[in-house]
Amino acid sequence: MVIDTHCHLDVLSGQVLNDQLNPADLYLTMGTHAEDWPTLIQLCRKYPNIYAAIGLHPWYVSGEYGNELEILQDFLTKYKVTAIGEIGLDFAPDYVDLRNHQLDAFECQLRFALEYSLPVSLHVYKAHNEMIALLKQYPVKGVVHSLGSSVQIAREYLNLGLKFGVNAVVVKENARRYHELVKTYGLESIVLETDSPNITLPGKMVSDLADIYVVVEAVSRITGTTPEEVVKLTNANANQIFHFLEE
Ligand SMILES: [Zn+2]
Repeated sequence: MVIDTHCHLDVLSGQVLNDQLNPADLYLTMGTHAEDWPTLIQLCRKYPNIYAAIGLHPWYVSGEYGNELEILQDFLTKYKVTAIGEIGLDFAPDYVDLRNHQLDAFECQLRFALEYSLPVSLHVYKAHNEMIALLKQYPVKGVVHSLGSSVQIAREYLNLGLKFGVNAVVVKENARRYHELVKTYGLESIVLETDSPNITLPGKMVSDLADIYVVVEAVSRITGTTPEEVVKLTNANANQIFHFLEE
């Protein structure tokens, strides 16, 4: 069993999902905005190995975000979910205009995480200072998904008790920064993810949930451990944060 701690299964068609799901693996599928939350609740009811996170992604923080956060709170009260995600901050040129709304929506969702005792799955891009400042204020448990920062910044997240999510980017030969993070902090600091369908293996046009096994091999090479050890330790980290096996 491998635990995929960050994927977007609602985006896959029913047929593709059925073809790709491995009954032996666990999947934590992410929400991005109110429209996809009902589908995620349905998916995790339908499949025993799919778990749901719901949240408002920084790309989707529109003028209506106050309304969406009210709906989010309503969902958190009514339904059992595993985490709040995908949430965070993204100050890339396309999204930096939403900066203040993003900060407000993110802080509100961190408050929900503490109030409902839920871990988080975090998206961060060009916003590490702001994110670290908020995480110091709101001591949540969780994962920084697809982290590609310097080792110094990663240390700050680890000091706050978070782990970081490693996906197929690490398979690329030139992804030096990602290799360095895995090599420096090792298996005790990471969890695995596909971010399906957003990330593909080098040379591939489409992603597959089974790509996670190629990520296992890459992490095994970088850390000089066996694939079995990679799976065992990263699963233990994922369970410690998301409590999959206690439900
Ligand atoms: Zn994602």
